[in-house]
Amino acid sequence: MKETPVADVFIPEEFTEEQKMILHTVQDFMVKEVHSMGFGKVASLDAEKDKDLVLSVFKKAGALGLCGVSIDEEYGGMGLDFNTGLLFTEGLAGGFSFATTIGCQTSIGSLPILWYGTEAQKVKYLPEIATGEKGCSYCLTEPGAGSDANSGKTRAVLNTEGTHYILNGQKMWITNGGFAEVFTVFAKIDNDEKLSAFIVEKGFGGIELGKEEKKMGIKASSTVQVFFHDCKIPKENLLGERGKGFNMALNILNSGRIKIAAGGVGGMKNGLDKIVEYTNQRIQFNQPISQFGAMKLKLGIIATNAFAIESGVYRVGADVDKKHAELKASGSSYNDAKINSMREYAIECAILKIQGSEAMCSTGDEAIQMFGGMGYSQETGVEMAYRDARITKIYEGTNEINRMLSLGEFYKRAFVTKELNLKAAAKTVPAAIAQNYNPFNTGFLATEFEFVNNLKALFMIITGAAGNKLKTKLVDEQEIVMNLADILAMAFISESAFLRVKKLSQKTDIDKTELDVKTKMAKLYLYDALDVARKSANNAVDSFSGGIEKMVLKCLLRRMLRTYRINPKDMRRDVADHIINKGGYKF
Ligand SMILES: Cc1cc2nc3c(=O)[nH]c(=O)nc-3n(C[C@H](O)[C@H](O)[C@H](O)COP(=O)(O)OP(=O)(O)OC[C@H]3O[C@@H](n4cnc5c(N)ncnc54)[C@H](O)[C@@H]3O)c2cc1C
Repeated sequence: MKETPVADVFIPEEFTEEQKMILHTVQDFMVKEVHSMGFGKVASLDAEKDKDLVLSVFKKAGALGLCGVSIDEEYGGMGLDFNTGLLFTEGLAGGFSFATTIGCQTSIGSLPILWYGTEAQKVKYLPEIATGEKGCSYCLTEPGAGSDANSGKTRAVLNTEGTHYILNGQKMWITNGGFAEVFTVFAKIDNDEKLSAFIVEKGFGGIELGKEEKKMGIKASSTVQVFFHDCKIPKENLLGERGKGFNMALNILNSGRIKIAAGGVGGMKNGLDKIVEYTNQRIQFNQPISQFGAMKLKLGIIATNAFAIESGVYRVGADVDKKHAELKASGSSYNDAKINSMREYAIECAILKIQGSEAMCSTGDEAIQMFGGMGYSQETGVEMAYRDARITKIYEGTNEINRMLSLGEFYKRAFVTKELNLKAAAKTVPAAIAQNYNPFNTGFLATEFEFVNNLKALFMIITGAAGNKLKTKLVDEQEIVMNLADILAMAFISESAFLRVKKLSQKTDIDKTELDVKTKMAKLYLYDALDVARKSANNAVDSFSGGIEKMVLKCLLRRMLRTYRINPKDMRRDVADHIINKGGYKF
């Protein structure tokens, strides 16, 4: 299998001081404006009752420029590149519900106009969105159209004068809907099969808002139903081309998905800081509870997930920026370059969303466990983090839909657009396996890179075999698709973690202790990833194959994902001790 050259991989340690300033600015903002209220108070905020307070924090963020991070300077924003935008999103995580509010404004709320709008639309709407003077929202979901988003019933009909679209219908679960002035609404024109998109101002009239939803978490974040009753939209507010709204909606979600992963990284790091602070001072059996192996096990797992997922997130973020620059250099328009650079990484965005959200949710759960009874109290903010994190597995495409999407996109590229040459890749597999089993291979982390290559090769082999066997029926065998998507994720994230460590090891100014801890985290991630992949691969193979084919696949599986000989307990203890001694996840 082809190995990505480290020179082509961006690692978080390469962020500049300027980029880190953005992170620190948003983190400081959250501490000053949100944490200062006290976690008990933040946990009991209510989007309906506390609307003024929520809006005042939002307006302050706007005044500081935090609502315009992705918007170009010519339209009043900061014009950050995509990867710095991800770093900003990592910093937002400390804001709990406010992270969703500002996250929506800077992402799904405004990007449709930025990426698909005409110059006139951008000039008209973006400056006030960038400053937070106008809140914005993204209206795709309907009561009958959730995961099946293209099945919505909201309709737009051009009036007889041909000047306005008349919009009727209902949207549901609309973040920021309670105070937004600008809505990107996805609706079908006449009897079109595909959605179109419109920029709708609250001032157009014919808009009715439902009450704020009572939710499990992100309680201060506004979430309402939006009803359109003969809402009159000027014809020029059609966004992008007629019938292209669904593609647009999905592509905006690609960006939203990797941002959820970046937020997850922030959430896990914040969680670690809080856990270390608490478990270092909480004494039981005459010692700080952080000194117990059971606690170190959990700390080691959370840190490892944060490290590995972070490696994938910023690797992809930089790749999106590189692709954008390449496309622009080759003559693409601004909009096309934004759209196509994002679309190119749809698979990675889906994978990272799934793994980032799941790791963050389990961090929230374990944080409560490590705080014991205090974790269950509103006072510490830990139960709020747990509740707030849960939505990330649902919105921007549920994790099931994202698993199917990552595989679907992979097959599309392999068999429809033929961007991926699966046959050529398959031919390299036997050689790769033979080469991998070289006991004299003493290259840098040779065993680990061998496992990473094996994960990639095994994914290709099993996915190819399942595709061959089931052909178009594979879409109905979702259990197998779920398994395959998990092998793909384990391969990609493990690879990202080891490429990061390899690149770090080539730097002359790297602190050796830090490199050692990071190498251990990459190894620990791989150790667990091999378990996930083994289980998923066994499940898939047992589900679709039989006879000789099954025997061969099982034999390959055992060989390629053989036991990885490390001592996970000792390694996790070392990682945990480092974090405990540093007082948190401080790298
Ligand atoms: C707090 C919150 C904020 C939100 N913000 C916004 C927003 O700003 N704008 C917006 O447009 N939407 C928003 N949403 C909507 C969100 O994107 C949807 O809830 C989500 O896409 C899932 O749709 P659904 O709730 O209808 O669930 P369903 O689609 O009914 O799914 C229910 C379950 O069935 C599974 N399922 C569905 N279809 C399939 C399938 N084909 N195969 C296998 N399993 C399947 C799902 O994975 C899930 O487990 C928000 C939702 C919430 C809760």
